[in-house]
Amino acid sequence: MAISSESGQMLEDIVLCDTHAHLAFRQFDNDREKILREIEKGSPAFVVEVGIDVENSKKCVEIAESHQNVYASVGIHPHDSGSISGDNYLEAIRTLASSEKVVAIGEIGLDYYRDLSPRDQQRRVFSELLEVAAENDLPVIVHVRDAYEDAIEALRPFSGRSSIVVHSFSGTLGDAKMIAELGFFLGIGCPITYKRNNGLREAVRKAPLDQLLPETDSPFLPPQELRGKRNEPKNVLHVFRMVSELKGLALSDCSTALLDNARGFFRV
Ligand SMILES: [Zn+2]
Repeated sequence: MAISSESGQMLEDIVLCDTHAHLAFRQFDNDREKILREIEKGSPAFVVEVGIDVENSKKCVEIAESHQNVYASVGIHPHDSGSISGDNYLEAIRTLASSEKVVAIGEIGLDYYRDLSPRDQQRRVFSELLEVAAENDLPVIVHVRDAYEDAIEALRPFSGRSSIVVHSFSGTLGDAKMIAELGFFLGIGCPITYKRNNGLREAVRKAPLDQLLPETDSPFLPPQELRGKRNEPKNVLHVFRMVSELKGLALSDCSTALLDNARGFFRV
């Protein structure tokens, strides 16, 4: 049975990838293996499973090491940076990062919206892990919410030194411009389909196509038509569709470009 998109294009021809998912979370306890089997069969072609603290990063590495087409990133989310003690976490992240399936450090960053960790602690952990990434020549997945100014200042010294993606980009047109000018990438998730998100769509329309990475942040941030449901990597199709529309490209051309971006960024 052929499923066609609005443009009449066969969806079987469209190769997807999801550069940001949290399949280790409990929301996937009942069907994680089913979703992982689909990924092993190539749907999506590959997924980056993203860690948020030492324990969760360990799980991400285990999942990646035991499944084809799944890669891991290891890091400490700003929400969790307040609960780490001493420097032991750095050693733990360095050890995990030595796995061949680890393709990035992240997610790390600053979140002044929820402020779940003291800001000075968020900034300290962020800069320490940016250094670990640079030392190990690993790309970085950055989480920023209501902290674009401080995050850009912290990232600026890594321009030309590390590959960096600001995941689930939610900043202004000016933030997007600044990030792109520094040579960093914008991670674009399903919020780009939300009705009120005209500003984000405008930012993506103007951003260089070769600096965009598609993602879902599953189980969070489902696309407009699935709001209230759990998000899954296959829903990254909604991102591909919206980006192709905004860029005035055929879905197949857009998917080739986004896949190339992701493969180049993570070197997979
Ligand atoms: Zn995330």
